[in-house]
Amino acid sequence: MQPYTYRPITRHNIHKYPQYTQLNADQKETIQTVSAVFPFRANRYVIDHLINWENIPGDPIFQLTFPQRGMLRDEEREQVRRALDSGDNSQQMEVIHKIRMQHNPHPAGQQKHNVPKLGGERIPGVQHKYPETVLYFPVQGQTCHAYCSYCFRWAQFIGDQDLKFAARSPEQLVTYLHGNHQVTDVLFTGGDPATMKTKLLRQHIEPLLDPSLEHIQTIRIGTKALAYWPYRFVTDPDADDLIRLFEEIVASGRHLAIMAHFSHYREMEPAIVQEAIRRLRDIGAEIRMQAPLIRQVNDTPDVWVTMWRTGVKLGMIPYYMFVSRDTGPQDYFEVSLARAWQIFRSAYSQVSGLGRTVRGPVMSASPGKVVVNGIATIREQRVFVLQFLQGRDPNWVGRPFMAHFDPAATWLTDLKSAFAEEFPHQQQFGSVGEESTA
Ligand SMILES: *Cc1c(COP(=O)(O)O)cnc(C)c1O
Ligand code: SF4
Repeated sequence: MQPYTYRPITRHNIHKYPQYTQLNADQKETIQTVSAVFPFRANRYVIDHLINWENIPGDPIFQLTFPQRGMLRDEEREQVRRALDSGDNSQQMEVIHKIRMQHNPHPAGQQKHNVPKLGGERIPGVQHKYPETVLYFPVQGQTCHAYCSYCFRWAQFIGDQDLKFAARSPEQLVTYLHGNHQVTDVLFTGGDPATMKTKLLRQHIEPLLDPSLEHIQTIRIGTKALAYWPYRFVTDPDADDLIRLFEEIVASGRHLAIMAHFSHYREMEPAIVQEAIRRLRDIGAEIRMQAPLIRQVNDTPDVWVTMWRTGVKLGMIPYYMFVSRDTGPQDYFEVSLARAWQIFRSAYSQVSGLGRTVRGPVMSASPGKVVVNGIATIREQRVFVLQFLQGRDPNWVGRPFMAHFDPAATWLTDLKSAFAEEFPHQQQFGSVGEESTA
């Protein structure tokens, strides 16, 4: 496999790629209309090596990265098509903007919550929700090598400045960390911070390695690059510099945790990915794998069993299986909590203990990360057995609580408490919503 040079494939140049000509007229039109609303980006590695074009449209990576018919309602699709045909730019913008706003671009105000303050001012590009971990959004990392069609960060990619949330430099973060010694982890996220040139990423990471920040034990890098652009760690012009930067994190005495987003085992199969994983592990980085459970992409136990087994074989650590959240074209991708738990349990029961480090299915909701531990019958009532893995208030963590079983429920907000006992977070807070996560 020869190394590719990164170049994004978008709605404007997709027609130049041979695979596009294999699509039928309806599939082409779907790509054009849906990608006018939701961001679309792919690259040659994804279309040449991850998608099986014999299996369109069912192919999981095609579903993961290409716009799909079900992502817009029929009447929305019709409106977009008419607007595109009209050639009237301002009408197009208006129609598209309106549809985007109906798809919950910032679930429960992602930008408003969890942003810490310094001298009364909110720190752009920083979120601090759980005491020990701060999320950091460096400005140049707010894009990805390809876009997942279900992405809850999609608002960041459509170029609407109002919806962007990012940090130009880490100075304010560093000051904030000096005053917050309970923080042990800084998680670089986006988008994908691995899309940044090493030189830029270094400017954001180096200040955090200062001895005055000894309480920062772990630098986490949330990335999909291993799956979408493994060349980043092997053959890109600054790949070696990136590995050296990562080595410096380890040499500073800290843990480097790569939080790798893998949605399907196929993403782990190419030799170039395995080479990238080997390079990261050689310098002492640990790779943890996580992904949301997405209809059409990975909604069978077999996909997860093979993914966890393959990952463990390659030296990675299964971490989270997420429930997909309510943003963008969620109706198309969502899986009920009951089904998510069945898939999780079936897959979990088929891997060795080294694969059972995974936790799921997890909702990253407004009050915290809630895992569905099971469905049980207690005093003749069917209930979901739930637990906070992370809570806005650490006091909620680890205590089992119950909700009425509801086969159609897809999110925490759909659930009602069982046995007249309130949910832990409702004993102190009035409301539950959903929003930001790593
Ligand atoms: C998931 C998440 C974290 C990290 O939680 P861990 O359980 O430590 O991986 C931190 N902040 C936010 C906002 C999150 O959603
Ligand atoms: S890799 Fe993550 S941030 Fe990027 S498009 Fe996919 S889900 Fe969104």
